[in-house]
Amino acid sequence: ILDALEFADKTSDIQYNKNTVIHNPQIIRDVVKICGCRSKIVPRPDQEVEEEMNKDAVPAPPAPASALRPRPPVVCVMGHVDHGKTTLLDALRDTAVVETEFGGITQHIGAFQMKLPSGEAVTFLDTPGHAAFSAMRSRGALATDVVVLVVAADDGVMEQTKEAVRMAREADVPILVAVNKIDKPDVNIKRTLQELAQCGVVCEEMGGDVQAIPISALKKTNLDTLVEALTLQAQLMELKADPGGYVEGVVIEAQVDPRTGKQATVLVQRGTLRRGSVIVAGNGWAKVRVINSAEGVPLQEAPPSTPAAVLGWRELPSAGDQVLEVASEKRANEVMRWRANQKMKEKQAVDLEAIKVKESDHNTEYRARLDHKRSIGRMRLRPTGPRQKMIQHDTHPTLSVIVKGDVDGSVEAILDILETYDEHDRVRLDLVHFGVGQVTPSDLEVADAFNAVIYAFNVDCPPAVTVEAKKSNIAIKHHNIIYKLIDDIKDEISLKIPKKQ
Ligand code: GDP
Repeated sequence: ILDALEFADKTSDIQYNKNTVIHNPQIIRDVVKICGCRSKIVPRPDQEVEEEMNKDAVPAPPAPASALRPRPPVVCVMGHVDHGKTTLLDALRDTAVVETEFGGITQHIGAFQMKLPSGEAVTFLDTPGHAAFSAMRSRGALATDVVVLVVAADDGVMEQTKEAVRMAREADVPILVAVNKIDKPDVNIKRTLQELAQCGVVCEEMGGDVQAIPISALKKTNLDTLVEALTLQAQLMELKADPGGYVEGVVIEAQVDPRTGKQATVLVQRGTLRRGSVIVAGNGWAKVRVINSAEGVPLQEAPPSTPAAVLGWRELPSAGDQVLEVASEKRANEVMRWRANQKMKEKQAVDLEAIKVKESDHNTEYRARLDHKRSIGRMRLRPTGPRQKMIQHDTHPTLSVIVKGDVDGSVEAILDILETYDEHDRVRLDLVHFGVGQVTPSDLEVADAFNAVIYAFNVDCPPAVTVEAKKSNIAIKHHNIIYKLIDDIKDEISLKIPKKQ
């Protein structure tokens, strides 16, 4: 067949091997012709073929330096509970809305952008707190350039302040301190800065390089200074991105909006999102129908660092999912299929692992049971000795059985059923021996000693043993269906039930 393929596919220089998948129906037809009807062409399962044709969407390689343009910083607000994170975000958002002169209803879309009179912009993630930060980090989608650490000057450094510092440090994100609530009487800014220095955040006033801005989020004091400090920090960091090429980004929030339907906020990190772009994210994809800002203003396009509330999702993604633009809806469908397939495979692998663990637990338990039963069996057998008839002091009718099976599993299944007969009131069922493998001469000895019937499940009996059994009048019963074997035992039991007088 490989030769026939080389022959049929003259136009290409593919090196065919047994793993090559052939999609071209003409080549397949030619090969069938060349090989004649005797050759059977077995198509590979559709799923595998599909999988080889469709690949996942992956980010593009890093853009060349010449394509990079400055972009606004993305800021995450963190700090101890009640130190004023929400108040600060609200104050900044209000300012942002006033400055854009739309003044409409601000939607909570998980992020908003603030434009400064200078033309610069700052993007704020408006879900305060550590959970959002660690969730993004754990998904490898930490879309944060700067952490604004809010510390209330009346309270100073608290437990969650330290935690935020640790998290920002671990993620290698620079910190800018907002010393909040300076409108309150008796606040001690210096003490707060000293406490911060003690946990490694040394502000400029203390001889370090961290900017600290005293603010009042409630009174909106010094907020412009804070934002200026952020833009300065951004300049120092030389934040840049390529606004061309396919869009890359991260899902900040996803929800079903009662008015607009499926909506997800995308923070663009590379490329420029436009209406009509086709994007995939996690298990969702969209042909972008509408892009809105946090103020509900429709945007023509969303360049890097712009949060955009996107409508047009066929399936909603999840927060933290990576967003990638693809060439077409067809491609998006392929990616979705590929991902669903991968997910299914992962699930199957997990199932398989769980089954393996169960099986090994089961085996351990089963072996322990077998050992236990064997030890009981040996104890019973030892006093009698081979070939010595057991003296039946007990007048209770008893059916003694020996079970031999082909594999542990079948023996176990039979024993499980027999166990339910253990307490039979009129006839006692005595399992005197069991094991895996053929019926052996030693089985005959045990059967003889206990006057037992040998049940052989799916196992042979060497001719010599059959002859010996006949001679000694030992019954060996062969079965290959468990319920028939059990029925046979039931029949034997009923034969032993004493006849009513
Ligand atoms: P979060 O838990 O960090 O989000 O803190 P909040 O923003 O909910 O603020 C907690 C409390 O502190 C609220 O009662 C706010 O009104 C108050 N607060 C926040 N910022 C200031 C401020 O600058 N000055 C004063 N006096 N109170 C503030």
